[in-house]
Amino acid sequence: METTNIINQIGNTPLIKLKQVSELTGCNIYGKAEYFNPGESVKDRAALYIVKDAFERKKIEKGGIIVEGTAGNTGIGLAVVCKEFGLGLKIVIPKTQSNEKKDILKKLGADLIEVDAVPYSNPKNYIKQSKEIAEDLSKKHNHGVVWGNQFDNTVNTKAHIETTANEIWSQTAGKIDGFTCSVGTGGTLAGVSIGLKNKNKNVKIALSDPMGSSLYSFIKDKKLESKGTSITEGIGTGRITKNFEKALIDDAFQTSDEEALNIVYDLIENQNIILGGSSGINIAGAIKLAKQLGKNKNIVTILCDDGRRYASKIFNKEFLKSKNLPIPKWL
Ligand code: PMP
Repeated sequence: METTNIINQIGNTPLIKLKQVSELTGCNIYGKAEYFNPGESVKDRAALYIVKDAFERKKIEKGGIIVEGTAGNTGIGLAVVCKEFGLGLKIVIPKTQSNEKKDILKKLGADLIEVDAVPYSNPKNYIKQSKEIAEDLSKKHNHGVVWGNQFDNTVNTKAHIETTANEIWSQTAGKIDGFTCSVGTGGTLAGVSIGLKNKNKNVKIALSDPMGSSLYSFIKDKKLESKGTSITEGIGTGRITKNFEKALIDDAFQTSDEEALNIVYDLIENQNIILGGSSGINIAGAIKLAKQLGKNKNIVTILCDDGRRYASKIFNKEFLKSKNLPIPKWL
């Protein structure tokens, strides 16, 4: 590994055995620790592929600008990558996302535009606004302006076929029975499912969905319907993106915030691993998949990012109380 360039530190993250949930299920449940990436989330992989693809297609050159709509993690990944490639970065983010992520983005030099959180069907949705901003900017900029379009740009899926899936396959020595994760853009689930099933079509793939998302009902009943809400960030959606469309999914599970947060808090107590809410949803899915597959199976999920990125929410008594969510005794 070349160690002088931060871009080369993206990927090749550790696979960690989650001891307590493994004991509970009689399976080996492993988490791909994506918070080890330079931008501290799974989204560094998509960010790198989006920028490299823009250069390869000659859509941008040094001095150009990347524009993206993001819940934050893709923005942070892009900030790391853009700095290395000499590009500017403009981020459109819903106001509802954690202040921690917004602060990191500002520190990393991204130009941040905060907008109201409205559904995708609304023309003011953050993704649609980011596209418009990119189109406007490209008229007056001569080094290239590229809209990342992480939801429908399938180099996102390609990143996970070529990196995440291959890493999981070699880290488990091909002894993997099941994989599950949640979906924001769908890039992780699509890429890992394609990559693993290319190696062994019997690997069982499950979607792990939070409440408030329509994908669980889509997999179960072919209907986009949502129930409930979730405080998790970066996951859950009401539409089928071009990345999600590619995912090879056998089954789906849905998990409440209460269940996910209890897993996050237990993991802090038992293994000193501090994760964000989407990782809690993922591990809950892995437990459900383990119960379905039976004992002694090897199951992998994604530990998407670090819980400190949401401290003002998931480690904040007042916030948790206001949402009727569990409060760990040590808080
Ligand atoms: N967890 C977190 C915390 C995220 O930010 C994201 C991406 N928005 C995901 C999970 C989902 O990843 P993907 O976009 O590949 O579906």
